[in-house]
Amino acid sequence: MTYWDLTTIYPSFESDTYQNDLTKLKTLMAELETLELTDDFTKSATAYIEKANAVLKLLFPLNIYAHLTFSVDSSNQAAIKYSDTLGMLQAQLAAPAVKFQKWVASFDADTIENVTDNLLVEHKFFMHELQQNAAYLLSEKEEVLLSKLRQVGANAWGDLMAKLTGNLQAEIELDGKTETLTLTMLRNLASHKDSAVRKRAYQTELNAYSKIEESIAAALNGIKGDVNMTSKMRGFDSPLAEAVHNSRLDLATLDAMLSAMTDKLPVFRKYLKRKAKLLGHKNGLPFYDLFAPINESDMTYSYDEAKQFVLDNFATFSEELKNSAQKAFDDNWVDVEPRKGKRGGAFCAPIIGRRQSRVMLNFTGSFDGVTTMAHELGHAYHNWQLFDEHMLLADYPLPLAETASIFCETIVTNAAIKKADKNEAIYILEKSIMNSTQVIVDIMSRFIFEKTVFDNRQQGPLSVDMLKQAMLDAQLQTYGDGLDKDFMHPYMWACKSHYYSAYNNYYNYPYAFGLLFALGLYAEYQNGRPNFVADYNQLLKNTTRMNVKDVAASMGIDVTKKDFWLASLGIIEQQIEQFIELTN
Ligand SMILES: [Zn+2]
Repeated sequence: MTYWDLTTIYPSFESDTYQNDLTKLKTLMAELETLELTDDFTKSATAYIEKANAVLKLLFPLNIYAHLTFSVDSSNQAAIKYSDTLGMLQAQLAAPAVKFQKWVASFDADTIENVTDNLLVEHKFFMHELQQNAAYLLSEKEEVLLSKLRQVGANAWGDLMAKLTGNLQAEIELDGKTETLTLTMLRNLASHKDSAVRKRAYQTELNAYSKIEESIAAALNGIKGDVNMTSKMRGFDSPLAEAVHNSRLDLATLDAMLSAMTDKLPVFRKYLKRKAKLLGHKNGLPFYDLFAPINESDMTYSYDEAKQFVLDNFATFSEELKNSAQKAFDDNWVDVEPRKGKRGGAFCAPIIGRRQSRVMLNFTGSFDGVTTMAHELGHAYHNWQLFDEHMLLADYPLPLAETASIFCETIVTNAAIKKADKNEAIYILEKSIMNSTQVIVDIMSRFIFEKTVFDNRQQGPLSVDMLKQAMLDAQLQTYGDGLDKDFMHPYMWACKSHYYSAYNNYYNYPYAFGLLFALGLYAEYQNGRPNFVADYNQLLKNTTRMNVKDVAASMGIDVTKKDFWLASLGIIEQQIEQFIELTN
């Protein structure tokens, strides 16, 4: 078993270093809360920025240590206790942050633009953004009231939805026995080898949702109604405009991307129809077979083989990329195999102030495990480029969060296809295309659905029938004849929890952006663009200091132009053509 080493963050919760840092954090926070902001812009801004950076440099490792401990040991009581404590401390930071924001907004943009002090120059974008966003803040009284009402309103609706779907169970026949499964377990059967099981799981799932549909529809109406109202009060044209603004994007860029995606939908339908044919269906792919395996792969990797494969292929890109992964392995930043009490999935956590990352995997030796490893080490490489960044500037927006990860995943996937035999190539390609279809076609259906709900909610609550119809319409618009019309999924709005957060509106298009932006960069790399590696590293560094359009422009890419997006989609199109040829 290969565990990660967390002792290089803190030896333990009880250790003097952890406890001393916690005490020091509370002292610094008290100082930040009482910090006086005067007419002297340079002096006050410097004082706040220095103090806030110092607070975050302590808060972040203390918090991540608890979070990481919990993620591999869910019964660790100290981790639960300190996560809660630090979560509350983090919430306390909102007050001095809003005070500073309003103070910055009381100066004009030129004051920020003309700063000469080095620390302030580096925080120019940060301050400009605070100033611009201040225009959308309500009065202090309203903000406090709103956040308290969210607790008992929209957040409570979200909790209700989570409880209803979390507790919902359904009976299904498996291997001749009747079993009682949760919704998550039922959904996991979507990739089962036996098509009869996949179909039964899908029907059982739809039946189960019908039992809670009225309650979760009420929750959805409550949350979307709240967001429509508050978004308007803040001065945004729509919840979409607000979401786009918050992800440092602009509507022209979003339109260019969506328009290119719409143009290429027929390409994805071609893949869906081929997959349907391979599985013996005549009228397109039934929803329950979207994740069906079409062949088996006997590609297995030991952890050392996977490591070596990733390192060798990272080296084809750059020595630095390879070294960043080597460092993660050498310093035990990676937690490898599944074990009891460890959560599922995979993630990468940055510990910027300490020049470290941690990567959690659930590696079992499959090929997917290798691409996941490359993906998460790609995130670690993004962190690596930000190791010297100020804590206030260590965050990048969602649309750019998957750039390095998908780029690295693409390097490794392409290398694997090159050395694969025909059966393996089909397996790898299909996995990759299946994933892209989710990120392009399904994400687009979710985007259309969410927009329909927000628009219609202005006139009143949507009934269960209206929600189901809106979802089917969205699937028809995007999947088209690629899906079998008799087997679509009218309850996808009950399945994705992001619709039920008043804070994560349109938590869909940033993922399409992430995939296509990374693929677009990869296309430039493949085309032999000179100086690519250095420019790419700089681009990753820029992700925390510019809006999305400018980050892309720093590499000469115009994301407001449809051509860029069409070129990215062209890479997936090539894969689909190759898949169709190989399965002929
Ligand atoms: Zn990722």
